[in-house]
Amino acid sequence: MRVFLSGMPKAELHLHLEGSLSPETIAAIAKRNGLDYFTTAEEVERSLADRPPGLMGFLKHHFKSQEVMQSRQDFYDATYGLAAKLKENNVVYADLFFDPQAHTSRGISFSDMFGGLDAGRRDAEAELGIEINLIMCIQRERSVDSAFEMLDQAAPFRDRIIGLGMDSGPEYGNPPVKFRQVYARAREEGYYLTGHHDVDVRDSVEHIWQSLEIIGMDRIDHGLNAVDDPRLVTELARRDMCLTGSPVKRTTDPAPQDVDRIKKLDEAGVCVSLNTDDPEEFESGYLTNMLILFQQASGYSEADMTRLMLNAFNALWLGDVEKRAYFAQLREYAGANGVAWADVTRQ
Ligand SMILES: [Zn+2]
Repeated sequence: MRVFLSGMPKAELHLHLEGSLSPETIAAIAKRNGLDYFTTAEEVERSLADRPPGLMGFLKHHFKSQEVMQSRQDFYDATYGLAAKLKENNVVYADLFFDPQAHTSRGISFSDMFGGLDAGRRDAEAELGIEINLIMCIQRERSVDSAFEMLDQAAPFRDRIIGLGMDSGPEYGNPPVKFRQVYARAREEGYYLTGHHDVDVRDSVEHIWQSLEIIGMDRIDHGLNAVDDPRLVTELARRDMCLTGSPVKRTTDPAPQDVDRIKKLDEAGVCVSLNTDDPEEFESGYLTNMLILFQQASGYSEADMTRLMLNAFNALWLGDVEKRAYFAQLREYAGANGVAWADVTRQ
């Protein structure tokens, strides 16, 4: 099973650049920028291990580590370094989230940040053979005006950004409808739309409904509380709407989170995929390891694990021809390993 999961061609739909900075990358960039913290990988690892439990402790380390990035070269190195890790995991396609406001609010220009990121993913595609598309995310705790400003700044690069997302953060008080007009403009400009619906936050189910009915999102990030509302489960399945699940595991967790919810959604015919979210900040790490942890906790077969990966490829924002090529790659891999496609698709 480990070998099967490791070799499987994979897609990542929920992956944050800012949560994918390795200790080595952070230390190298901090040193280059003359900072007096995080100048060794050990120091970064200690900060990660010592962070207080809970979301605030997570964010404290997360923000401190992303602040080392200042120049175009820093964003290039971070993106290319991540792509090399994806390659080790046989990830063939990734949609990569990035947070412009976290950087422009520190005085970094949008074009420096984006220029590095875009060059990094293009070189990764040419040299490593990984297709990476970019999704810029609204930081939901910031103002609507700030989100509009981000759209303005992104305008010159519109054709190189595939989608608009919305990140975690204090979700209660910052529901999807807060950014309804921002999303409406993004839709007019041709972006695909998605957004975070963290698990077990207040009003999560209501927020998912807002994103379906009012915003018209194309994907739902996390969103696993959908399982609590049978009508929502039916609607998600009817629309073939994909939830980007992230069954991450922290060092303090006995097993990956939300395995039961993902299984229930899968059994109900909802398109749910497995993603690493912030691989450098969770013990679950990169995708091969996460798939192994999830399989062990779920007892899923090779066919079941292939179906969850097919869900990810199915939810790509690509044309039919490109998607079919990815389906064929996965199907061929399954066939070569004795997995019947009828068991994968349950048909
Ligand atoms: Zn996320």
